[in-house]
Amino acid sequence: MAEAANPFSSLQEQVDDAVGYVSGIDDGVLNRLKHPERVLEANLTVEMDDGGLEVFKAFRSQFNGDRGPYKGGIRYHPNVSRDEVKALSGWMVYKCAVVDIPYGGGKGGIVIDPSEYTADELERITRAFAAELRPLIGADRDIPAPDVNTGQREMNWIKDSYETLEGTTAPGVVTGKAIDSGGSAGRVEATGRSTMLTAREAFSYLDRDISDATVAVQGYGNAGSVTAQLLSEEFGASIVAVSDSSGAIYDPDGFDAVAVEEFKHETGSVEGYVGAVEEITNEELLTLDVDLLVPAALENAIDADIASDVQADVIAEAANGPITPDADDVLAERDVMVVPDILANAGGVTVSYFEWVQNRQRFYWTEQRVNDELERVITDAFDGLVSAYEEKDLPTLRVAAYVVAIERVARAFEQAGSWP
Ligand code: NAD
Repeated sequence: MAEAANPFSSLQEQVDDAVGYVSGIDDGVLNRLKHPERVLEANLTVEMDDGGLEVFKAFRSQFNGDRGPYKGGIRYHPNVSRDEVKALSGWMVYKCAVVDIPYGGGKGGIVIDPSEYTADELERITRAFAAELRPLIGADRDIPAPDVNTGQREMNWIKDSYETLEGTTAPGVVTGKAIDSGGSAGRVEATGRSTMLTAREAFSYLDRDISDATVAVQGYGNAGSVTAQLLSEEFGASIVAVSDSSGAIYDPDGFDAVAVEEFKHETGSVEGYVGAVEEITNEELLTLDVDLLVPAALENAIDADIASDVQADVIAEAANGPITPDADDVLAERDVMVVPDILANAGGVTVSYFEWVQNRQRFYWTEQRVNDELERVITDAFDGLVSAYEEKDLPTLRVAAYVVAIERVARAFEQAGSWP
């Protein structure tokens, strides 16, 4: 990764950049929009398989609940920090507002490298976190979901812990569950699907044919690999480079995106894939001469130096916060179209919303219905951004996304009136 910009400062800068274009916003409301309402910090003391005890730092930030329950994932990563969780929870607020689903924003995480622990240990750690979260979460309060290094398994554990402690059934307390535990069809693919849809819309806006596009994907995990597979399956786009934390692989003729995913699944990394013509660095991947770049790993992947060497015409941010604010300025000057994270990866939370709706109705939709509804939400949101971008003559689609979102959150706050 490049420059270590503080993600919380990046979030605040993004809000500041947009607020200048929102008329009539009160300074107090602006301040509210830049800070979380509250942050839980917990130290989880958990017994390891050898009988020893270990302490893990964990956070849950509830950034804003003006439009509905707090909503956002739980990340397991050694770099999780209070500021990272605060930033991610703020991005959730604006993400939910941009796609106009009735949620606020939250985010949580544990400072841990999960690869160093057994499944039994991870279960105890997750259940200890769920016990800390119990008073804060609930289908009408705060609804966690998967993020980096967490998935259906962790969500099933949190749901079971909550239901056991509350003595009830409450499938809507978390989303991203396995289907048999109340999950939704299409949820696993939803983030990559929205990145694919926004890339399609961006190419169409630029009057370019996405079926001719060459694509580089940084971070071949859930979001990145599904984006690559869908771009290739739906349009025949050519996936010429992919990477993960072990390194990057390149083939100018394009990879079979499914075969690379199967290889990563079996071996744990993309490195060593037999179809690769060349192994390159992650930085080289970001500056390859491709039409579409999909950063799908972590924050701050593209700083100003890398941005000045980016050759892609379009960037669709599958990851949260992969471009630093300085890099954003460089890309805007260079006319690189950036589809901002709060729209490009909003498919995950949108289908989480559909999962929650289905949990409440106890009535489950077909995958086709999920995908159709998702396409409607994402394309409507893209059109809304483009309208704001053109009508208000805004500098970037990111600013447009924040303008649309901030207006929605501020309106909800103002309509609620003051309390106490
Ligand atoms: P994941 O753990 O499935 O995949 C992340 C991938 O990035 C892994 O393959 C990892 O090896 C790779 N990676 C890590 N560091 C890297 C580096 N320095 N260079 C290259 N690759 C690196 O996680 P995910 O769920 O796909 O999430 C990825 C990003 O997408 C995160 O920013 C997350 O917040 C965002 N996101 C995910 C979802 C979702 O539903 N999964 C929803 C919205 C946003």
